[in-house]
Amino acid sequence: MKTRTAVLYAAGEPIRVEEIELDPPKEHEVLVRIVAAGICHSDHHVVTGEMPTYLPMALGHEGAGIIEAVGPQVMNCKPGDHVVLSFVPSCGKCRYCLSGHSNLCNKGSSSTLGPQLDGTFRMHSGETNIGQFCLLSSFSEFTVVPDISVVVVDKEYPLNRAVLASCAVPTGVGAVIHRAKVTPGSTVMVIGCGGVGVNIIQGAKLAGARMIIAVDIHDFKLEMAKELGATHVINAREQNPVRVAKGLTDGFGVDYAFEAISTPETIGQAAAATGKNGIIVIVGLTDAKVTSMPIPPMLFVLSQKTIMGTIYGDSQPQKDIPALLALYKDGKLKLDELVTRTYTLDQVNEAYNDTLQGRTIRGVIEFK
Ligand SMILES: [Zn+2]
Ligand SMILES: [Zn+2]
Repeated sequence: MKTRTAVLYAAGEPIRVEEIELDPPKEHEVLVRIVAAGICHSDHHVVTGEMPTYLPMALGHEGAGIIEAVGPQVMNCKPGDHVVLSFVPSCGKCRYCLSGHSNLCNKGSSSTLGPQLDGTFRMHSGETNIGQFCLLSSFSEFTVVPDISVVVVDKEYPLNRAVLASCAVPTGVGAVIHRAKVTPGSTVMVIGCGGVGVNIIQGAKLAGARMIIAVDIHDFKLEMAKELGATHVINAREQNPVRVAKGLTDGFGVDYAFEAISTPETIGQAAAATGKNGIIVIVGLTDAKVTSMPIPPMLFVLSQKTIMGTIYGDSQPQKDIPALLALYKDGKLKLDELVTRTYTLDQVNEAYNDTLQGRTIRGVIEFK
């Protein structure tokens, strides 16, 4: 069949929205009609070349839609089911899935970047095979994905909100709950209040943190941070975040610092803002060319600090995506407020420009 898809042909070029050929689903694959796709910064690391990968690549890894058809052997979903896409498949059999870290599933680590799991391509433009980012390509009217990359969700959830449970929400909330395991009464700092950062704030509130310090350079994002649970906000253009955080904690420094921007400078700030026994969590993707961080190793001994990274917030998509949506239903997790602007597929480059300019918390592409 034909479908309209956003494809990147070369790093540094604009994303092209074009009609391509989509093969039917093979064994253990499903055809999904995408209803909504989130504008996550991670795709842009492919656009700039900061994350080298197979090209041409059909982008988009945050998505929600409706199953149109299933290939042979598919047992976990059926046509008509509403699904949220997971940017890491969960095979349920590898050592990571079996040890409770399906976010690190072996099927995802090496194969997310290009062809489908059997090594062949479903998307084509003439003779050219088009890769599927994270096996998904949610910036497409229709896509074919592995059955282990979809999470069936209750039809009561609007898909243009549930889409945020595909990446931003589990990445942020999970970083707090599953990875850092923030304890009630803790002090927390969050650097970067975009789509992931605001969900770190929501996670810290759910975990019972007594102080949540939000840092950004855009005042409207800091306003949203307050609305979602931040107790203090710092505009890093006007104040030094490390100094203010130390002052707010009587000189001790925060217990946990989450870094959702991931430049060496902001990672250094996160480390400097934590106190003794502090935990620094790197959540955002850095440029692949960055190989060092300005953190004195001595601090790890003298102050017994811990630095950790996390992908997908150490969440288990099959279990956690429905759980997060249930929290949304209960009013304990906000999603509606996070969608700053909606776009058509043809506006995908404009949507990324808005993200880069800091004009949105989360942009969402809606398909008619
Ligand atoms: Zn993402
Ligand atoms: Zn696995």
